[in-house]
Amino acid sequence: MTASAYPQKDAIIFEGRPYTFQDITREIKRTAALLKKLGVKKGDRVALQLPKSMEFIFFHLANLSIGAITLPLNTAFRGEEMAYYLKDSQSSLFVTYEKNYSELRSVIDSAEGLSCLLTDGNQDGVFCYSEEREHADCSEEPDYPAQDDDIALICYTSGTTGLPKGAMITHRNLVENMKSLQNAWEWTDQDILLHILPIFHVHGLEVALHGGLFAGSTIIMHEKFDPSRVWHTIEEKQCTMLMGVPTMYYRLLNQYQVSEKTPDIRSMRVFISGSAPLSEKVFEQFRNTTGYTILERYGMTEAGMITSNPIEEAERKAGSAGYPFPGVEIRIVDKDGEDISPGEVGEVCIRGDNVFKGYWRNPEKTEEAFAGDWLKSGDMGYEAPDDGMRLYLSGRFKELIITGGYNVYPKEVENVIDRYDSVRETAVIGLPDDDFGEKVTAVVVLKDKTAIADPGEIIAFCKKSLAGYKCPKTVFFREELPRNAMGKVQKHLLSDELQADIL
Ligand code: ATP
Ligand code: MG
Repeated sequence: MTASAYPQKDAIIFEGRPYTFQDITREIKRTAALLKKLGVKKGDRVALQLPKSMEFIFFHLANLSIGAITLPLNTAFRGEEMAYYLKDSQSSLFVTYEKNYSELRSVIDSAEGLSCLLTDGNQDGVFCYSEEREHADCSEEPDYPAQDDDIALICYTSGTTGLPKGAMITHRNLVENMKSLQNAWEWTDQDILLHILPIFHVHGLEVALHGGLFAGSTIIMHEKFDPSRVWHTIEEKQCTMLMGVPTMYYRLLNQYQVSEKTPDIRSMRVFISGSAPLSEKVFEQFRNTTGYTILERYGMTEAGMITSNPIEEAERKAGSAGYPFPGVEIRIVDKDGEDISPGEVGEVCIRGDNVFKGYWRNPEKTEEAFAGDWLKSGDMGYEAPDDGMRLYLSGRFKELIITGGYNVYPKEVENVIDRYDSVRETAVIGLPDDDFGEKVTAVVVLKDKTAIADPGEIIAFCKKSLAGYKCPKTVFFREELPRNAMGKVQKHLLSDELQADIL
């Protein structure tokens, strides 16, 4: 780790409290000793269901240092979901907080061979962090027993398209990912990263946290996302980098526009967006308003970071996911797995040291996910031959609409509707239809409560830019779109809801 190079430098400032690289190293050693004392061995799974906190970070990094496997779990997961994760992972230790423990007691008691440790509070039959920490003998130097291909993390996917799957991410995957980010984003020890994402997911954990520590930069951590605080902190702490999901950028933009005093953000080097498509509208408005062009990148739990727009600001393009990171190869194939002509839409496949080892205890899903050594992303896209094979994503394979035998890529239609004046955002889905098989359907959120729009006018607007079969047959209005914790639109929920309404 970078710790030896900058022992006294602040590595993380969590909610105002600074931790130097040396503090973090010391705490990792202590937590590693604690884990060993509790019997955790190389290869054991340690489930962490904690709020965004330094304890989460210490346990996670200590796990890696003794070769144990972290299971980062969303604090929103409840009873049945937790029963599934704890049993499926055959975790030996569950680290959580008292209130959660009380709620999940029966689930924890029924998971075989599982001990529990509370970071706060004290309960009978359960390990207590402050006590164990006190007695942990941290004189021993960590031995880092893990090999490159050993599993470091079992990270559950966001569950956007179905049940989350436990992706096995190796130490090699993590290291390659950090190197790629450092290289492509010119990330250095001079950077100050404002961290506003959850850390149970790849974006906040592997990209922002690992990347920041690896580069030797200082990470300013906010536990929760608060747009006005973000602008204020950038100015106050002279931040240089921010990572967020598109919904965060939308809220940041609105906040910027209503701020009484325009924040001074000249210290900023780069605003990075990922986890979901950034609409062209937000991309443009953010640039026009703040003067900064958001850098969009594309990644997934199973492959870490895949492509990125260039660090040269002028070369970032709206709606494009950019080019592969160093060491990552991509390929676009048709439904038979054959390469297709450049410029045509197909499934994005990925190869490289960034690609995961498979789904935990799920050989069938693992087999389905690969074609040889290529990971099938489940995302559709094309490479622009006249632009150095720049990648454009067209939506998920599962969300492709087939209407009257024609393929409609939702993103293309969403981009058009988003341009309509009173529209804030759009989700285009296919609903079952007797005549067409599927019917292109748009669900539209208007800019604000006072905005009005006529479905017929939106359809007519689409007809000006799109072939008739791509235009929505029906337009529904909603106050918001259903999203998961990473701000991803859950189209299957929309589809279920609309079908239930129609029936
Ligand atoms: P599940 O696999 O459980 O359905 P998920 O795919 O949403 O959930 P993640 O691994 O968190 O789980 O997300 C990866 C997906 O997010 C990618 O496959 C892609 O669909 C989407 N994504 C990430 N970055 C971008 C981007 N810049 N533009 C468009 N989509 C993106
Ligand atoms: Mg996925």
